[in-house]
Amino acid sequence: LGPTITVGEILVELMATTTGFGFKEAQTLYGPFPSGAPAIFIDQVARLGGAAGIIASVGNDDFGALNVERLQNDGVDTSAISKSTDRPTGSAFVRYRDDGSRDFIFNIMHSAAGSIELSAQAKALIARAGHVHVMGSAFAIPGAGLAIRTAIEAVRERGGSVSFDPNVRKELLGSGNLRQQFEYMLQNADLLLPSGEELFVAAGTEDEATAVTHLHDLGIDEIVLKRGKDGATYFGATGARYDFHGFVVEEVDPTGAGDAFGATYLTSRRQGLGPEVSLERAAAAGARNVTLQGPMTGLPNTTELDTFIASTPRRTK
Ligand code: ADP
Repeated sequence: LGPTITVGEILVELMATTTGFGFKEAQTLYGPFPSGAPAIFIDQVARLGGAAGIIASVGNDDFGALNVERLQNDGVDTSAISKSTDRPTGSAFVRYRDDGSRDFIFNIMHSAAGSIELSAQAKALIARAGHVHVMGSAFAIPGAGLAIRTAIEAVRERGGSVSFDPNVRKELLGSGNLRQQFEYMLQNADLLLPSGEELFVAAGTEDEATAVTHLHDLGIDEIVLKRGKDGATYFGATGARYDFHGFVVEEVDPTGAGDAFGATYLTSRRQGLGPEVSLERAAAAGARNVTLQGPMTGLPNTTELDTFIASTPRRTK
């Protein structure tokens, strides 16, 4: 079928080079790095040889250009990235605290990423698509909801599939119609990629087994739960379960691990690999990505992924 497509924010990330609290003192920043969860995801799909495209918006500036060039060089169809003439490319400032948590300053809603249009190019990409991947965070962007629904309906009609990564904070779910968008995604997803507690938020229960059964009953065939350094678990609608306990790596920058993981799982499945092997490959992409600074720096191609899998120690439980 056609390419995997996604909809959402493209931005650059600038990182503080020292750990500490926030951005009030003058400090050295490192960057810009290309970023945005949907951009990281779709770049990973392309690096593994999957056909890929993104509906997004950047400004007419170097931050936009560096993102588009990166995606293009890796083989992503960038024809549906529109270039805003009156808004700059989105940006995020990040600083780590000593305990590993992060402080962020985001400039997204007033940037080019804050409005996504269903342009003629976006419609053309949708008309070719075979799979739609949706991030929960994309629903916060005006216009993205319409593009997502249009894409899902078109892809469904052509016999394609849908995946959903509910990467949205619990507190946001109560606001506006986000809960409604979330329910729509749960009704339409074939593959769900929650991280930690997002499984409970999605299912509306705090018991893992009950949550998984409920989500399978909604028609979600595959649930792949991300557990950070502890790896990930696959729950199939047939009752199959696989646990992968994780590769042992030194974490330098966790941003993008979940997106690298999700894109690798999906692409491996779309390339015909089984769920157990796909889970291992996804965990490898996630683990490799945290070892390098910059959300997209560690995204492997197929050879790099194979090398990582062969040479990295893993946890046994
Ligand atoms: P998200 O970024 O969506 O919260 P995770 O942090 O769980 O997702 O990361 C996704 C996957 O990447 C994990 O399931 C795991 O397989 C891998 N991963 C992430 N962080 C590490 C780490 N520190 N060590 C090893 N593997 C990791």
